[in-house]
Amino acid sequence: MRRRWSNWGRSAQAEFAAVARPRDEDALAATIRSAARAGQRVRALGAGHSFTPAAVTDGVSVRLDHVTGLWAVDEDAGLVTVGAGTRLRDLPGLLRPYGLAMENLGDIDVQTIAGAISTGTHGTGSAFTGIAGQVRGLRIALADGTLVDCSPQLRRDLFEAARLGLGAFGVLVSVTLQCVPAFQLAAHEHAVPLDGVLEGYAELVRSEDHLDLYWFPHTRTALVKANRREASPGAAQPLGAWRAWWEDEFVSNGLLALVSEIGAAAPSAVPVLNRIAAATVAERRYTGDSHAVFTAPRRVRFREMEYAIPLAALPDAVREIRRTIDARGWRISWPLEIRTAAADDVWLSTAYERDSAYVAVHRYVRDPFVAYFREVEEVLLAFGGRPHWGKLHTQSVGELSARYPRLDDARRVRREVDPAGTFANRYVDRVLGSVTSA
Ligand SMILES: Cc1cc2nc3c(=O)[nH]c(=O)nc-3n(C[C@H](O)[C@H](O)[C@H](O)COP(=O)(O)OP(=O)(O)OC[C@H]3O[C@@H](n4cnc5c(N)ncnc54)[C@H](O)[C@@H]3O)c2cc1C
Repeated sequence: MRRRWSNWGRSAQAEFAAVARPRDEDALAATIRSAARAGQRVRALGAGHSFTPAAVTDGVSVRLDHVTGLWAVDEDAGLVTVGAGTRLRDLPGLLRPYGLAMENLGDIDVQTIAGAISTGTHGTGSAFTGIAGQVRGLRIALADGTLVDCSPQLRRDLFEAARLGLGAFGVLVSVTLQCVPAFQLAAHEHAVPLDGVLEGYAELVRSEDHLDLYWFPHTRTALVKANRREASPGAAQPLGAWRAWWEDEFVSNGLLALVSEIGAAAPSAVPVLNRIAAATVAERRYTGDSHAVFTAPRRVRFREMEYAIPLAALPDAVREIRRTIDARGWRISWPLEIRTAAADDVWLSTAYERDSAYVAVHRYVRDPFVAYFREVEEVLLAFGGRPHWGKLHTQSVGELSARYPRLDDARRVRREVDPAGTFANRYVDRVLGSVTSA
C-alpha cells in the first residue's frame, strides 16, 4: 500500500512505495540491497522538517526510529557516537551523565541528528560552525549495502561529502560528534532600532557569543536575542513558569497563530500588527542549560528560505530587502531572522571557507510566498548568497557549483559510491545533477 506523506512546512509531498523501519544496520543494509535489486530508489527520512523536498521519494522511505541512542563515548576527547536517527531533543539527556553538551544548536530540537547535518542545520555565533562542522566520523550504508566508516583519517572524501550530503551518498547509521563540556547560556532579549544594529553589526556580532536578530517588516525595530556562554556556570535562573508559558507558548505560538490568521485574511492590517508586536516586546534575561536556551518550540507552521552571505555584506543586504518589500507593497507578517556562523571546511556547507551571515525569510503557511521569496533570493544571490539545502530556493546544479567551491568534488564522490542513483530524487538531481545521465 502506497503511503502519502507531507513535510512539516506543507511544502513537499510524497507517495512512498514502501516505508522501512530497520531495527539495526544489517536490516538497513538488506533493505537497501533489495530495493536496489528491484530498481527502487531509497531515501532516508528524518523528522520531515526540511522545507525542500529533500527526503521525498516514490521508492522506499527509510526511517531510523530504531537506530538511535548513545553508542560510544570518549570522555577525555569529548567524542560521542550516536545512532543516526537520534533526535536532537534526546541528546542533552544522553550527554548529561558525561558532563558534555553540543557546542551549538539551531532554533529547534525535533530534527534527527542525521537529518540536521545532511542539510547543513546551523545556529548562530560568529565563532561557531553549523552542526556538520561538529561531526568527526560517520558510519554509512552505501548503495551496494556495504557498511563503511569514514572520518578525516578514513575515506576522507566520502566523509567530507556525506557529513552534509543531502542523503545522496548513502544512509547514515551513526554520527560521531565533537562535544564540549556542558555549559549554561545567559540570554538577553530586547528591542533596538534596526538602523543602529545594522550600523554596528560587525562589532555587535564580535561582542556576543550567539546573536540572533529578528526584524519585522514595516517596523524600524529589531528584536535581539543575545546568548552569552557562562564561564563559571551557577544555578540556572530560568524565567518563572508562568512568564515562560505566557511568552513562549501563549504569545510566541498561540497569539502568533491568531495574528498570522488575521494577517492572511486582511493583509492591510499587517503593518499595524507588526508595529504593535515590535512595540510590546518585553525585555527578558534568563540563564539556563545551553540546549534549553538555544531552542524553543515552533508550533505555528510556516515556509522559509534562507541564504548565507559574506558576513560583511549583511547590513547592505538587509537594507536592500527592506527597500524591495517597501517598493513592492507586500504585507509581510513574519520576521526576517539574521544569524551568523564561522567559516568551516565542510564541502557543501553554506559557510565553506567563509565567515557568514544568514538571512532567513518566513511566511505563514497560508500566505503566498513565491514572489516574495523569489525577489529576496535575487537580492541575496547578488550578495554572493548560498542557499540552505533544507529551505526553499530555486537554484540548480549549474548555478550552485559556482557558489559552492567543492560541489564538483561532492558530485565525483557521488558517482563513485552511487553510480546507479539509488539514493537520488528529483531535488538531489536538481542541486547535485543526475548521476545516471552524467
Ligand atoms: C520549525 C523549523 C525550524 C528550523 N530551524 C532551523 C535552524 O534553526 N537552523 C537551520 O539551519 N535549519 C533549521 N530548520 C531546517 C531543519 O533543521 C533542516 O531542514 C533539517 O534537515 C531537518 O532535519 P530532519 O531530521 O527533519 O530531516 P528531514 O527533513 O527528514 O531530511 C533532511 C535530509 O536529510 C536526509 N536524511 C535524513 N536522515 C538521514 C540518514 N539517516 N542518512 C542520510 N540522510 C538522511 C534526508 O534524506 C533529507 O535529504 C528548521 C526547520 C523547521 C521546520
